[in-house]
Parts: sequence; structure tokens; C-alpha cells
Amino acid sequence: MNAPFTGGCRCGAIRYECSADPVRTVHCFCTDCQKLTGTQMSTNLLVPKAAFRITQGKPTAYDVKGDSGKTVRRYFCATCGSPLWGEPDVLAEMTVIKAGSLDDSSWVEPQASMFVDSAPGWGVVPGGIPRFGRMPTG
Ligand SMILES: [Zn+2]
Ligand SMILES: [Zn+2]
Repeated sequence: MNAPFTGGCRCGAIRYECSADPVRTVHCFCTDCQKLTGTQMSTNLLVPKAAFRITQGKPTAYDVKGDSGKTVRRYFCATCGSPLWGEPDVLAEMTVIKAGSLDDSSWVEPQASMFVDSAPGWGVVPGGIPRFGRMPTG
């Protein structure tokens, strides 16, 4: 049990808290995550939306079309630009937190890598955990 855990953006304007452990933790190498993070991938914690709450500040959001064709709403800090979390329509009950926004991410254990088909040639896909070319099914 690592919950409750907290996190926020680089400048401290936006803060959040989560009262449940992640249901799943995955690396995502999709091109969207590459744009978002400025590097090869993002590491994402899927948590129940009901367990997630903003404790300070007001994030800015924009909508993108995910690989599924459905909308993903991405939240970030308008002051410092830190990506924080997303709300994919395909996972309506989930909030997807960027692992790097946690105050302490030392306990995070990624269980799989997805969208490795679009990993850049200079990237490193971790060994020892399952790899999925695109979105895992099931
Ligand atoms: Zn900020
Ligand atoms: Zn992605």
C-alpha cells in the first residue's frame, strides 16, 4: 500500500492527492507521449478517478484524439508547463497520472511497455517486463 500519495507540477501551483494505489502502471512510447514529455516515453499510473483529487491550483487542459480515435483530455500547469495527468474517454473511470509528477516516485513499479512500435530508434525499451506494439488488449 503506497496510497495516499501526492504530487504536483514543477512550480508548485498545482497539487493533487490520490487515495488509492494504481490499478496498473505502464510505460507508453506513443508519439503523443513523446511530444508531451519531450523524450522517448511517459510512465503512467492508472488510478480510479474517484480516488484522485486536486488539492491546490487550477490546471489547464486540452483535448487530443488518442490512438483509439477517442478523446484524451490532458492536464498541465499553464505556468511551468509540467504535464500532470490525463483523462482518456476509453478509460472513463480512470485518471492517468504522469509518474514524474509524484512527490516520491521511488515505489513505482512499471508492469509493461506499450506502443513500443513507435519507440524512437535512440530510445531504450526496458527489459524484464512485457512489451506491446500498441495498446494491450484485455
Ligand atoms: Zn506549475
Ligand atoms: Zn502514450
